[in-house]
Amino acid sequence: MNRRQVAALVMFVFCCLGFIGSMWLIRVQVLATNGTANPSDDPMGMEPFRNIILMIGDGNGVGQLNATRMSLGQGETLFVDTFPFQGLIETTSLGGVITDSAAAATALACGVQTWNTFIAVSASGAPQTTILEYAETLGKSTGLVTTTRLTHATPACFAAHVPNRNQETEIGRQMLFEHEIEVLLGGGRSILDSFLPSAVTDGYTLVENRTQLIESMDAPKLLGVFTSSHMSYEVERNTSLEPSLAEMTNLTIQSLERNSEGFFLMVEGGRIDHAGHANNITNVVGDGLAFNEAVGVALQFAEEDGQTLLIVTADHETGGLQVNSTSPELDVEWSTTGHTADRIPFFIFCQNLSIIPDLDHHTDMGQFLFTAFGYTSSMVNKGIQNIYLGLDARQIIGLPGKLLTIRFYR
Ligand SMILES: [Zn+2]
Repeated sequence: MNRRQVAALVMFVFCCLGFIGSMWLIRVQVLATNGTANPSDDPMGMEPFRNIILMIGDGNGVGQLNATRMSLGQGETLFVDTFPFQGLIETTSLGGVITDSAAAATALACGVQTWNTFIAVSASGAPQTTILEYAETLGKSTGLVTTTRLTHATPACFAAHVPNRNQETEIGRQMLFEHEIEVLLGGGRSILDSFLPSAVTDGYTLVENRTQLIESMDAPKLLGVFTSSHMSYEVERNTSLEPSLAEMTNLTIQSLERNSEGFFLMVEGGRIDHAGHANNITNVVGDGLAFNEAVGVALQFAEEDGQTLLIVTADHETGGLQVNSTSPELDVEWSTTGHTADRIPFFIFCQNLSIIPDLDHHTDMGQFLFTAFGYTSSMVNKGIQNIYLGLDARQIIGLPGKLLTIRFYR
């Protein structure tokens, strides 16, 4: 070929690539346009649930659940053992096989896979609508309950959008002032201190110990900040000052269920992870049992209510924990002081589903939460990959301010 023919060939190839790219973008736009709610798109034919309670045991893998279960009396089981749907789920983030709590909770809250440390933003840094924010648009009440600082990664992913989980002051600001969360309970006064007067002005009733919490349950908006940093491990908890996770869960459900439109509640047993990092089996089991009690409270409500989807899962496993023996005492082995790539268990209780969708990855669980609240579209169920386009998902969906998330093919 001479130089003119080579140039023509190069031009031809560029034109072809341009054409293919344009068609793909048009397809994206068409998918986006078709991405409005249409019940017929829902393969499960699922009636929307009124309430969702999502319970996350941070670092609560199979080994942690085994250790907690085996610490119970002979023949006793955990509440999750009775749940009708159970399985194992993959937790990989975009950074690799080992996720952190930020990427994992982003997957659960938004149905989107992202990088470690990212809080409810996509791989390109675009804010992703969380299931809590979606619940707010539906007129539902919302709540976040945790034993960590309220601004820690897991609760943050439901009510803030920042690229670094360490931006806790900004996370606190967004959580308190850019959302209408009816109940916030946890630790973290050291981060939230300067915001508390404005939060009270904005309508929050501030409570700082267990007694105040119990006396304030009629408050329309409740902010409980019980400790300077994380709340205490269960075995070290001052029971007159700090409420238990089960008490916080119970009181929050009572408060949120006053809304006839329903509610979304996330409850985190956040310090199972810290005990795992410390390879401290006493605190793993102590906080595991406290988490189990909280699950029991939520299960009792879901059984009586009949319109509640209750999901209990973890964000990742911490410590590589393995139980070797229970006799004469619990004998365990750890493989690391960090997180592992283990698949983690999930448990689902509800009264009106005979099947659940395939849940292979955390992002599938996040997508399921949206559909459980009635969001049905080809976007949520099939998804597109927008990583390489660098586009803001809000623009793709075409909704001002609020967006419905896009999942990535893996
Ligand atoms: Zn951790």
